[in-house]
Amino acid sequence: MGTKKFKISHKRNDCIGCGSCAIYAKRQWQMNKDDGKADLIGGKKKGDFIVSEVDIDELENNKEAAKACPMQIIKIDKNI
Ligand code: SF4
Repeated sequence: MGTKKFKISHKRNDCIGCGSCAIYAKRQWQMNKDDGKADLIGGKKKGDFIVSEVDIDELENNKEAAKACPMQIIKIDKNI
């Protein structure tokens, strides 16, 4: 059995580049040097969102990141 995962989705177009997500969950979030927005590391484009499946041990960090996001554009889905 593989490691349990959860899903993160990011509505990147609405990101204002505040940097909070990259402070709370460094392994998933990195600030882009070109446009100043956050990149979801390993994420794939799906419509208006960038999505990634991440190991469950990163769940708490990313819940904090989602809570801290002033735009509320980070969504966490445990049911995958
Ligand atoms: S916390 Fe939200 S608005 Fe701030 S950089 Fe991350 S995704 Fe963008």
